Amino acid sequence: MKKIVIIGGGISGLATAWLLREKGRAAGKDQNITLLEKEERPGGKIRSIKSDGYTCEWGPNGFLDSKPQTLDLCRALGVEQNLHRSNDNARKRFIFSGGELHQLPDGAAAFLRSRLISWPGKLRLALEPTPFIASPPAGVDETLAAFGRRRLGGEALDKLIAPMVSGIFAGDPETMSLVSCFPRIAELEREYGGLIRAMILLAKKKKRDQAEGKIVSSAAGPGGTLTSFREGIQYLPDALAASLGDIVRPGSAVTSVSKGADTPYLVTCRDGSEAAADVVIMASPAFAAAEMLAGLDGRIAGILQQIPYASMTVVCFGYSRGQIGRSLDGFGYLIPKKEGLSTLGTLWDSSMFENRAPEGKVLLRSMMGGACFPEYVSLSDDEIVARVRKDLSLTMGIDAEPEFIRVFRHPQAIPQYTVGHGSRLQALAEALRLQPGLILTGNSYRGIGLNDCVAAAERAADEALAQI
Ligand SMILES: Cc1cc2nc3c(=O)[nH]c(=O)nc-3n(C[C@H](O)[C@H](O)[C@H](O)COP(=O)(O)OP(=O)(O)OC[C@H]3O[C@@H](n4cnc5c(N)ncnc54)[C@H](O)[C@@H]3O)c2cc1C
Repeated sequence: MKKIVIIGGGISGLATAWLLREKGRAAGKDQNITLLEKEERPGGKIRSIKSDGYTCEWGPNGFLDSKPQTLDLCRALGVEQNLHRSNDNARKRFIFSGGELHQLPDGAAAFLRSRLISWPGKLRLALEPTPFIASPPAGVDETLAAFGRRRLGGEALDKLIAPMVSGIFAGDPETMSLVSCFPRIAELEREYGGLIRAMILLAKKKKRDQAEGKIVSSAAGPGGTLTSFREGIQYLPDALAASLGDIVRPGSAVTSVSKGADTPYLVTCRDGSEAAADVVIMASPAFAAAEMLAGLDGRIAGILQQIPYASMTVVCFGYSRGQIGRSLDGFGYLIPKKEGLSTLGTLWDSSMFENRAPEGKVLLRSMMGGACFPEYVSLSDDEIVARVRKDLSLTMGIDAEPEFIRVFRHPQAIPQYTVGHGSRLQALAEALRLQPGLILTGNSYRGIGLNDCVAAAERAADEALAQI
């Protein structure tokens, strides 16, 4: 019987183990799967903390239903009936600029009316589909900032692209790679010669497909509807872990992966226990995988160490609804760096999922830190709370003291796909060819969203099955 050891029990490791077991059973493969997780509780960055009637998401608050991966996994796992879609409010997203919140326009007329972008900025954006815009520089791994300035102009970069990058990656557009972070955008530019042209042509195609009765992705919100569970998103890793049973071994911190005597690999844990493995799937963050693999393959470890991470602090505030003097009809807002505030933005969690706060209360979730503000990770809780309160006063006019406060710190929270990430992945693929049976998965490589992690888990499971 082939032994497969998976290291790391976040969504990536759990989904890999589950898919591997199911696919292996279907293919009649004889396999022995073990998942080793350092913490006492699997789930990694996913955790829904219930306290005083509030449900605080420590990390992600859901996934988008516009991609099939996580939905398909929920269906196969038998938990689809427990899914909880965010309400329609979540379609309205805001940007704080010039002292006020501006709703992100959802069409050309709304864009023209919006005061988020100035008239010179709008005129610059209007050039986007014209031949005046330079083509992508050949053979250059362009930063998101360079792409934004070239294609859309400096104002759109500051007020649209940079906040989006901080909302998804907590990243700095001056260092992040367009093609690694948003490969689809790079592809659309190459394929259609511009983003506005691509949007128009794709919208026409969607209409045609709908008319022909083909299934098209959900139109709600940017990229679909935010989807979770009534209990919070932790329901998903909990359900995977429950289904996997004894396969998951929490409290097992791996210290090294080395060559084995009877099997290709030997996995050693901090408590001295060992596991022989024909296949090892690393589903931990890249920096942790680098440490575990240092003795086995210095080249692989060296490349993994080069993937930087940004830290994040998540701050939950609960209020009585009456303490908030404005509408909370929406997803929340992001704050461009140029506004000089401390927070990256605030999500109106109880507007998206009403059961996240007790009756008559609201839950706001603010983000701090990221690649642009690495120093914020070392602030004290009191300083963090004071800064969030100051920002909420400036952005939403909330001066009341929150009745509920929680601060969650994530050191090394989110991998940064900086310029050179694509070359690093290529070098990793070459080095891995010399280590048959060693597989890397997780959010460090080809996407950080839960859908990306599940897609990567499926690739890892297929690769493992092909190897045994
Ligand atoms: C604050 C925040 C908000 C986010 N919001 C969203 C969102 O709304 N939607 C979305 O789609 N994505 C979101 N993301 C991204 C998403 O949550 C992550 O990309 C995803 O959860 C990562 O899963 P993973 O399994 O790859 O990694 P992780 O969750 O980091 O799991 C890795 C696991 O490896 C374990 N490990 C590490 N070292 C060892 C070792 N030596 N031995 C054994 N185990 C080890 C860790 O303990 C951990 O459990 C967010 C991320 C953060 C931080």
